[in-house]
Amino acid sequence: MIEVKNVTKSFGDLTVLKDFSVDFNQEGVTVLLGPSGTGKSTLLRCINGLETIDGGDIIVNGLSVKEKKNLRQIRLDCGMVFQRTVLFPHLNVMQNLTMSPIKLLKMNKKEAEEKAVLYLKKVGLESKAKAMHNELSGGEQQRIAIARALMMNPKALLLDEVTSALDPEMTSEVLKILETLAQEGVCMLCVTHEMQFAKHVASRIIFMDKGIAAADETAENFFSVVRKENERIAKFLQFIG
Ligand code: ADP
Ligand code: MG
Repeated sequence: MIEVKNVTKSFGDLTVLKDFSVDFNQEGVTVLLGPSGTGKSTLLRCINGLETIDGGDIIVNGLSVKEKKNLRQIRLDCGMVFQRTVLFPHLNVMQNLTMSPIKLLKMNKKEAEEKAVLYLKKVGLESKAKAMHNELSGGEQQRIAIARALMMNPKALLLDEVTSALDPEMTSEVLKILETLAQEGVCMLCVTHEMQFAKHVASRIIFMDKGIAAADETAENFFSVVRKENERIAKFLQFIG
């Protein structure tokens, strides 16, 4: 579904992605691991057309990110949630969830609201439909952000450290939701440092280091064999516990 082909991406003199290639099909959860500054966020942002690429190509469902006219569809296909989500501050939760489906998918208001109720239930926040963003905890905001992304029927969710600004309790609430979504077959590509989540929920682990995929393995293989055989990965895993 997502083909990253020989992508090069630099910021000035700094080459962040070097001839980077990887394919993602529409199955399961892929976790992107790796030290800070190795290009994980840049990769997700390039997939979603939030950054332009310097070389190579990224094809999402047959459409190249290099064509500006494709970006709208690509962003519909790949919902993205960031570390800190900005809900529209002047809108309540329900309006945050229904605005884009009404505007972009031409859903009628009633239908959008019914769907929003379903997703609010899914993330355990049906009581918060009328809340404004400043009445929600960080974890609740992230759960709303996930629900908001799902409202657009994405083919995949791109999640960039969605729990790293949260305390352990809120982190576990958010991860529990992602685990449920994974069980329901939602395809996810997520950057996270939550190793228990990676171990138990991911089917595939890509370890990024210095702009390349230093390992691309099944989660099982990664946590049993690769972590022992690859010194760099062993060190990284030790470091983050
Ligand atoms: P990661 O998500 O793996 O921590 P990033 O993809 O955020 O890494 O960043 C990779 C490198 O690119 C870092 O050195 C970062 O400082 C740099 N970088 C990211 N975005 C920009 C930008 N917009 N301008 C300049 N440098 C950037
Ligand atoms: Mg990052």
